[in-house]
Formats: sequence, structure tokens, C-alpha cells
Amino acid sequence: MIPFNKPCLTGKELRYMQEAVASGKLSGNGEFTHRCQTFMETRYGFRKCLLTTSGTDALEMAAMLCDLQPGDEVIVPSYTFVSTALAFIREGANIVFVDSSWQNPNMDATQLEGLITEHTKVIVPVHYAGVACDMDAIMALAERYNLLVVEDAAQAIDSTYRGKPLGSIGHLGCFSFHETKNITAGGEGGMLTINDERFLQRAEIIWEKGTNRAEFFRGMVNKYGWVDKGSSFLPAEINSAYLWAQLENLEKIQQRRIRLWETYDKELSPLTERGLFRKPDIPDFATNNAHMFYLVCRSLEERSRLIAYLRSRDILAVFHYLSLHKSDYYQAHSSLRPQLDACDNYADCLLRLPLYYDLEKQTVHQICSYIKEFYNEFIEDSLLGGR
Ligand SMILES: *Cc1c(COP(=O)(O)O)cnc(C)c1O
Repeated sequence: MIPFNKPCLTGKELRYMQEAVASGKLSGNGEFTHRCQTFMETRYGFRKCLLTTSGTDALEMAAMLCDLQPGDEVIVPSYTFVSTALAFIREGANIVFVDSSWQNPNMDATQLEGLITEHTKVIVPVHYAGVACDMDAIMALAERYNLLVVEDAAQAIDSTYRGKPLGSIGHLGCFSFHETKNITAGGEGGMLTINDERFLQRAEIIWEKGTNRAEFFRGMVNKYGWVDKGSSFLPAEINSAYLWAQLENLEKIQQRRIRLWETYDKELSPLTERGLFRKPDIPDFATNNAHMFYLVCRSLEERSRLIAYLRSRDILAVFHYLSLHKSDYYQAHSSLRPQLDACDNYADCLLRLPLYYDLEKQTVHQICSYIKEFYNEFIEDSLLGGR
């Protein structure tokens, strides 16, 4: 079976993990953590980076930094992972869902202004598949209405908007290094980026269990204690060591993923031209970090049949999010019942194809030929009325 995903291993991960163990310092905020954070700050110009144990944790830290009061509203796309909304729910906020664009699953920025009320505090753009949201439009609204912007850049490492790295544009940014992302910290991991000076000090305190331990270690205070809310958001050094090996090979990983992505794109173009499905849309302002290659099928039924067809040929293709506005949790906890047709359409029709570092180009060709086979049979089937 060709899996949908396989975590990437570039060669030095185990050696660096061993080094971390041998150093005798395994808890967070150590040497490998510093190396990773400095790498990110230097390469992408993030004002400050803090590694976390997950992307979810980075979002939770961001939500805490937004200092929300009960009744405050946070605008989130409905087509996203649970954590994007959950992190703000935990801080007592009300979630207001915005629909996706029909161009791609990102939030439709033209609908945002209509959702802003006197209670709105935060907008959370999710850069789906590593493709940028319309950040100029979003940042302009944030400025006009005095809102914070937290970028959910979980899938967006090494991608840009008009040349600016994703995660560096909003006040705060959140990345994930889960094993399904382009680079991983050994299974679970994440990172918070702090681009607005105002949040620097408090971010470190929240990161370190509500203490000013980080300042203490820099010699800025002579004892440390409990000063704020927080949690234990720091990853262990063996996770940072794994991540460091991946960062050293970031170019290689990205080049390979992009080559595979482009192979899908080229092979499947004739089918999109026939209108059988849509391929990922990359707006002019965005780059493609090859996080994901997806199709948008014409119907739920067609997608189900394609999944089954590929599975019968040992290929695992998977759908993605269910609309969060229709989730049991949201229905039970919110009185809002928005109609979000584009989001529902992606929930029903989007299909992700295998894409990972070790995937052979030959296998991509094979997968594409199965998809062509499927559509030739499917179309013929429908024409004959033989469904
Ligand atoms: C992966 C992901 C998350 C969560 O990251 P974890 O590291 O799994 O906690 C949040 N948002 C989006 C858009 C993601 O893709």
C-alpha cells in the first residue's frame, strides 16, 4: 500500500538525538532548541521564535497572548483543523466562522468585514496547503478595526506572501512540526513566532509555566517566580535535535517535495482542462511550498468512488476537514448557524494525494495513470448510464 504520508528522515536525526542525550541536558530551552529558533529567526526574519510541543500549543499560546475576555469574538475559517478554533474557545472566546473562497480553501477575505462587530478581537487566517491568504486585505482590516491577526501557518513553512515569509506578517504566527507536515520534530512539534514587540516578554513567561525563568537564565532578574498564566509549552531537547537535522536539510526536502508536486500538476493538467476536477489554485501573491497536492472533485459521490478505486490499487488518498461549523461541539455551544457553502464543498469534494519526501517520482506517475483510468471508466460508465 502506498501510504498518504510518511515522516521524513534525512539521515542525521538519530545522531543529533544521541548528542542531546549525551549532553545530559534533555529538558526544554537547551542547545538544539536555540539552534532551531535562531535558524528560523535568521532565515525568515521572524522577530522571535519559541519552539513548542505542537502546533496546537503554539495556537494556545497565541490565544493566551490575545488576552481575550468572555464574549470576545474570534474569526476563524470553518475549513480548518479543530485546534485553530479550540485554542480560542479555551480562552473563553466566541468563534465566528468565515467561509472559504471558491478559488481555494483559504478564508474569503472579502467576507470578513461583514462579520466584524464591536466584540471582534482577532482574525485567524489559515494558510491552507501552505498557500497564503490575502494578507494585505486582512492586515488592512485589522488596522482599521484594531484587531490582532494570528496566522495559522501550521502547513506553511518556507512559503511566502508577496515575498514575505508566512508567519511573519500577523502579530503572531503558529507552525506545526507534526509528522504530517513538511518537516517534523520527530512526530509532534510546533513553533510560535512573535512579530509584535508588545508580546515578547509575556510570550516567554507563558512558555515557561507562567514564570520569568527565561529572564532569570539571561541574568536579567536574580530570582524567578510565578508572574502570570502559562503552561509547559517547551519541547524536550530530543525533539529539537530531530528538528535540527531536518532544518539542516530543508532545501533538499523542499526541492524534492516541489518536484513531486509539479509532476502531479503536469500529469493531471489534461484532466483539469476537461473539467473533471480542479487542482490547487496558487494566487499570484503566493508561493507553493508543496505541502499538499489535492483535487477538488465534482461531487462527494465521485470522490468516494475515486478513493475506493485508488485503494483497490493500493494507493491511499484521503479527504480532509469536516466543516467545523457543523461539528457536534460547535452546534452544542454556539447559537450561530452560518451557511458556508464553499467550506462544505471542500469538505465533500477535496481529496489529498500521497506526497512525502521518500515518494518515488515513478509512483506519482503510476498514481496519475490510475486517476486517468478511473476518469476514463467513470465517464464512459456515466455516458452509458451504467452506474
Ligand atoms: C497540523 C495543523 C494544526 C495542528 O498542529 P499540531 O502540531 O498537530 O498540533 C493546526 N492547524 C492546522 C491548519 C494544521 O494543519
